[in-house]
Amino acid sequence: MPAPLPAPPDRIATVFRRRRLRQQLVVVPVVLGMLALVWVRESAADGELADKDPLALGAFAVVLASLVFSWWNWRCPACRSPLGRGTSPRRCPECGAPFA
Ligand SMILES: [Zn+2]
Repeated sequence: MPAPLPAPPDRIATVFRRRRLRQQLVVVPVVLGMLALVWVRESAADGELADKDPLALGAFAVVLASLVFSWWNWRCPACRSPLGRGTSPRRCPECGAPFA
């Protein structure tokens, strides 16, 4: 595990708030993409995902890209450790950097 970067606490909190906002916004494409996938699946006559359907491919790509973005984004600004499932941690569970 890399050592925490010597960043001032207010800078860490600022970066954390930006990351938290992005993490909240990324829910939108994930939900829309999954709804589109469900819609495509239920629209298909045989009940299977039509893998050549551009909407299905696009929706899958959006969901996948959003999850990759979330994996990259939702990390401690100081030590880059993943922040887990909590939506608003007060401090880093790994290095203890304060986020507020
Ligand atoms: Zn940390």
